[in-house]
Amino acid sequence: MSTIVAPPAPAAASAAPPPPAPTKAAVESLRSTSPIDGALLGEVPVHGAAEVGAAVARARTASASWAAKSFAERATELVRWRRAIADHVEELAQLVHRENGKTVLEATSEIFMALSHLDHAASRAEKALAPERVSGGLLANFRCTVSYHPLGVIGVIGPWNYPVFTPMGSIAYALAAGNAVVFKPSELTPLIGVKLVELAAASFSVPDLLQIVTGAGPTGAALCKAGVDKLAFTGSTATGKRVMAACAETLTPVLMELGGKDPMIVADDADLAKAVDGAVFGALANTGQACISIERCYVAEPVYDRFVEMVVAEVRKLRVGGDDAHLGAMTSPAQVEIVRAHLEDAQRRGAKILTGGADAIVGNFIQPTVVVDVTDDMLLIKDETFGPVLPIIKVASVEDALRRANGTRFGLGSAIFGRHARELADRIVAGMTSVNSVLAFSAIASLPFGGVGDSGFGRIHGDHGLREFTRTKATAEERLALPMNLMSFKLPGNMATRLAGTVKTLYGSGPVARAKDLFGRLRRG
Ligand code: NDP
Repeated sequence: MSTIVAPPAPAAASAAPPPPAPTKAAVESLRSTSPIDGALLGEVPVHGAAEVGAAVARARTASASWAAKSFAERATELVRWRRAIADHVEELAQLVHRENGKTVLEATSEIFMALSHLDHAASRAEKALAPERVSGGLLANFRCTVSYHPLGVIGVIGPWNYPVFTPMGSIAYALAAGNAVVFKPSELTPLIGVKLVELAAASFSVPDLLQIVTGAGPTGAALCKAGVDKLAFTGSTATGKRVMAACAETLTPVLMELGGKDPMIVADDADLAKAVDGAVFGALANTGQACISIERCYVAEPVYDRFVEMVVAEVRKLRVGGDDAHLGAMTSPAQVEIVRAHLEDAQRRGAKILTGGADAIVGNFIQPTVVVDVTDDMLLIKDETFGPVLPIIKVASVEDALRRANGTRFGLGSAIFGRHARELADRIVAGMTSVNSVLAFSAIASLPFGGVGDSGFGRIHGDHGLREFTRTKATAEERLALPMNLMSFKLPGNMATRLAGTVKTLYGSGPVARAKDLFGRLRRG
């Protein structure tokens, strides 16, 4: 059983001493402390391999009853869960604020976005997963269908930065597709996971449909090996590789939502006020702890000076910590050290800090930081910073910006501002691009979300996200028996000769094949 400690009054950022790092109390329990002031929020058990295995076994039983229900029945229950979460929005937002450190506004907005996904997954599943008729081609006597079926039990491992929104991107779509789920939240935000699952238990008619297992890395590792039918992982690229290696032992398929180093491009004909607003929000929202944060901003030379000046003016208006803050606490003390290391490395290599900086870090609170004179060899450009830092880079042209935007091993989100932004967007090698806006794709439930390269593979959200949690089945049903059946040994003796003739007629350079090709070209326009 988890225990939750009543929250004390909120503390102001400036007064807060550096809070102690969250501790893993030996083997039996995990203490969750607030990154804001170090207060103990509650305790959860550390689940070992036996408990994780038992949870997956219970989920398997649940998955059979859940899969037997119709889409409409499942949607009704998912909507019940959505209502339960919405009815507890203030309580949950406070918990997210205390356990993760983000502001109450950001916590509420995260819950809002998560519920829009839950709502979408529930209502969309029947349509997205409806069987599709496809052509039999040459085997026109066959009725051909592609259908989508639940996989069974999905393991979901989530990070701490969006402890409601991110796991919901997998959980909602996996449940709507007819699966049961075993969820392992980050050790830094377990109580939020516990609350979500408590509300689910009261909403679903099937016991153990959504279960939680708590603990640190080893609990996640146990889930990888517990016989789930798919493992949906969201977290860092380094841990993602370990998860994939563990899953490889049992050929458990994986969905990898990993880190990013998202670029933003500002062309010289961009609406500058809009681009400044986008860059500041895109880099600093959630204290920069978003996989889709803007982490590199490439600005065309003619507007660069004005852009930098406007960004700095806006950033200096932002407040950190306290009741009216724009930016909350960093969730993880370890992440604070990564941000510090990136800033110090950049300064050593000649970058200029225009506001904020490593010197302005107090405990888990980092002042929003704008950096210029940044070069590609700096950690700030090569690795994920995951903090409130906006590096701005002057480029000679949009071509130059595109080349540099595509110059890292990551490829998650991106943004581009300018009059021709839409035409250029597809040249950014990334899973998602916002055009003349930032981060919008993540809030649009019908758009697939995921990356390429070190940002992972597979898609959550949208129809792709529903299908990700199904097995695709191809069915070929003979509707009419033909005199000659190629799927049989009972064929005439000269069959090879006759077949070779058919191959030449249909696919060679003779008149029938040419006419077919011409018809195909005309049809494609
Ligand atoms: P981590 O990779 O450190 O952890 C992610 C999850 O994996 C946690 O629940 C963690 O548990 C667990 N874990 C750790 N070790 C193992 C293991 N050996 N086997 C199985 N599970 C394990 O990521 P963070 O929590 O630090 O999250 C931040 C990262 O997540 C960033 O890189 C960010 O870019 C990425 N992210 C990606 C998103 C996307 O959709 N692409 C969205 C949000 C974040 P524990 O915390 O208990 O150690």
